[in-house]
Amino acid sequence: MAKNQTIIVTGGAQGIGKCISLSLLECGYQVAIADIDREAGEECLQEFKNFAAALLFVETDVSQENSVRKCIETIVNRFQRIDGLINNAGIAQPDNGPVEDLSLENWHKVIQTNLTGCFLMSKYAIPYLRRSKGAIVNIASTRALQSEKNTEAYSASKGGIVALTHALAMSLGSDIRVNCISPGWIEVSEWQKSRLRTKPQLREIDHRQHPVGRVGKPEDVASMIKYLISDAAGFITGQNFVIDGGMTRKMIYEE
Ligand code: NAD
Repeated sequence: MAKNQTIIVTGGAQGIGKCISLSLLECGYQVAIADIDREAGEECLQEFKNFAAALLFVETDVSQENSVRKCIETIVNRFQRIDGLINNAGIAQPDNGPVEDLSLENWHKVIQTNLTGCFLMSKYAIPYLRRSKGAIVNIASTRALQSEKNTEAYSASKGGIVALTHALAMSLGSDIRVNCISPGWIEVSEWQKSRLRTKPQLREIDHRQHPVGRVGKPEDVASMIKYLISDAAGFITGQNFVIDGGMTRKMIYEE
C-alpha cells in the first residue's frame, strides 16, 4: 500500500514522533526523521536497523530556515519524493512561569520552534507534496483549546498551528490535504533516547480522570496519523482532531 512513499516526521527521534516513525516504517513507508537531537536520531537508526533501507535521519532544527532547506534537499536526494509531512517537533514543556516574568527571548523560542517550524517545513516540502498529491499533519495540543495557568507561549503556539492548518488547507487544496491532531496527555517516557528513558510513573487517579479510563499512548496518535495520510481520508482537510480520552468534553465543577 505504502510502497516507495516517503513521509517526513519532524521530532521523529523521540516521544510521540518516534512512535509515529516506527509505525510508518512497519506499514511499509520510507521515513525521514528530521530531529535536532543527533544522539536520539542515531539511536533510532540502530533500533530500527531492520528498516535501514527505508529510513533516513537528518539532523534538523525546524526553527531555522537554512537547516530546513538542507533537510528537504537531503531527503529528496535520498528518496526522490515526499508524500507526507508530519509536523510534530516541538518544545513540549507548556509551563513558562508567570507571564510577567516571561522573557521575549523565551516567548520567541517556543513560537519559533512549535509554530514557525511547521510553516518552514511546509513551505519547503510543498513543491514535492504537490507533485505526489500528498498530505500534511500538524501536531497541536488540547492546550490550543483550554489552558492551565502560566502556559501562554505554548498555548499560543498550538492555537497558531490549528489556524495555520486550515489556512494551508485552503491554499493547497486540491493538491495537498492538511489536517491537525490535538493530543491530550500522552505518556512518552518510554519513547525517549536511552539515557533519558524511564518507566511511566502514573497514578491510578491519572488514568481514572480520563473518560476512557486511561492516559494516552503515542500509538493513539500514530494510528490517527496513518489514517489521515492515507487515501481513506481523501475527503478530510483543514480539520483538527482531538485525541484526549475525552478530557476536553468533561465538565468540571467543584463538588
Ligand atoms: P518529546 O520532547 O518527547 O519529543 C520531541 C522531539 O522533538 C524530540 O526528539 C526533540 O529533539 C525534537 N525537537 C525539539 N525541538 C526541535 C527542533 N527545533 N527541531 C527539530 N526537532 C526538535 O515530546 P512529545 O511529548 O513526544 O511531543 C511531540 C509533539 O506533541 C510536540 O509538538 C508536543 O507539543 C505535542 N504534544 C505532546 C503531548 C504529550 O502529552 N506528550 C500533548 C499534546 C501535544
